[in-house]
Amino acid sequence: MNTEKSASLFSEAQQYIPGGVNSPVRAFRSVGKTPLFIKKAKGAYLFDEDGNRYLDYVCSWGPGILGHASERVIRAVKNACEDGLTFGAPTKKETELAKMITDFVPAAEQVRLVSSGTEAVMSAIRLARGYTGRDKIIKFEGNYHGHSDGLLVKAGSGLLTDLAPASAGVPEGYTKSTLLAGYNDEESVKELFSLYPDSIAAVIVEPVAANMGVVPPKEGFLAFLRQITEKHGTVLIFDEVITGFRLALGGAGEYYGVKPDMVTLGKIVGGGMPLAAYCGRKDIMQCVAPVGSVYQAGTLSGNPVAVTAGIETLKILSNEREVYERLDRKTSVLEQAFKEKGLQVNRVGSLLSAFFTDVPVTDYETAKTSDTASFAKYFSYMLENGIYVAPSQFEAMFVSATHTDMDIERTAQVIREYTVK
Ligand SMILES: *Cc1c(COP(=O)(O)O)cnc(C)c1O
Repeated sequence: MNTEKSASLFSEAQQYIPGGVNSPVRAFRSVGKTPLFIKKAKGAYLFDEDGNRYLDYVCSWGPGILGHASERVIRAVKNACEDGLTFGAPTKKETELAKMITDFVPAAEQVRLVSSGTEAVMSAIRLARGYTGRDKIIKFEGNYHGHSDGLLVKAGSGLLTDLAPASAGVPEGYTKSTLLAGYNDEESVKELFSLYPDSIAAVIVEPVAANMGVVPPKEGFLAFLRQITEKHGTVLIFDEVITGFRLALGGAGEYYGVKPDMVTLGKIVGGGMPLAAYCGRKDIMQCVAPVGSVYQAGTLSGNPVAVTAGIETLKILSNEREVYERLDRKTSVLEQAFKEKGLQVNRVGSLLSAFFTDVPVTDYETAKTSDTASFAKYFSYMLENGIYVAPSQFEAMFVSATHTDMDIERTAQVIREYTVK
């Protein structure tokens, strides 16, 4: 496969953009390669600058549930563009999208639109703190909630030791109010609540962890979080930036039947445009400016073009609810192929990870037992066979509505023919 043009575009990009990319994982570093420069995409396929075609299981890291360049979404966006790109004033479409979100997402009574998942989570946490008048939050090891300062923490030697920032440039003090618990580890959460019974503002969790590879919640884990937060007057936030509209129209809240106080949304909700949201109980959402005292704002928040893409995407999903069964069935075919290879496979709906380890993956510690060198070999093999998976062991594989049974069968065949090294 000739990728000369991508290689030369990447060298040029590195002169002007740090690492040549605008988001680190795109650089293919963890698989020891250089990235492909994508020219266009249609349905389940990506086309690079050298003219190669790839069957895409990254789907832009989650938004692409309908596949690339859905005709209906593109048409709606083009029409919206004709009317102007941004007004900095309210539009009726923002209400329409907010209403759809409250219709679909069980915990959503009111919605505030923002432009990225990072912004949604950062704002939700500020709001939970403002609402409760408390500072501390609990997050889980291996869960990712965007790159805001207080959430970039790494584990100390024990869960209860002081947390160090996981990035340079984050002052020590910024992570002081962040407490770290183990994913799927109820005891660690109980311990933190017994240490700080009245001072934890929020527990934030990926209801299905999908940023350490896919790690489903253990039976009863989410219900346990619901119970303990309720008992302590703590706001439970489901970060559904990946799971929202992916597992079901109502996301993980609907899928698992657990209702948090707040939900953050991103990725699919913008239909491929920069749009995200935080939503939840009305009494909490009423604490946001201009009605409440928690400040949050955005020049391009609720941008009319992005909102149009979101509305159209959610309309398509809600008119074709069988889409979730089809996605589930297709993804289970891939799951089976990976299992035949003896890999550890975690799957929830159309989120899938195959881990290169013998240990069942249930949390961050077990996810880290994966052999990333083996993953890198598998990644190269898939790419050589025209299949584009995320260039990291710790990212999910996403399936879209445009992946046909033939696409899936071909992928399963390529997996079956792989010799795990
Ligand atoms: C992607 C992601 C975010 C951050 O969203 P951005 O739009 O990249 O800022 C937050 N939380 C989760 C669970 C995510 O997967």
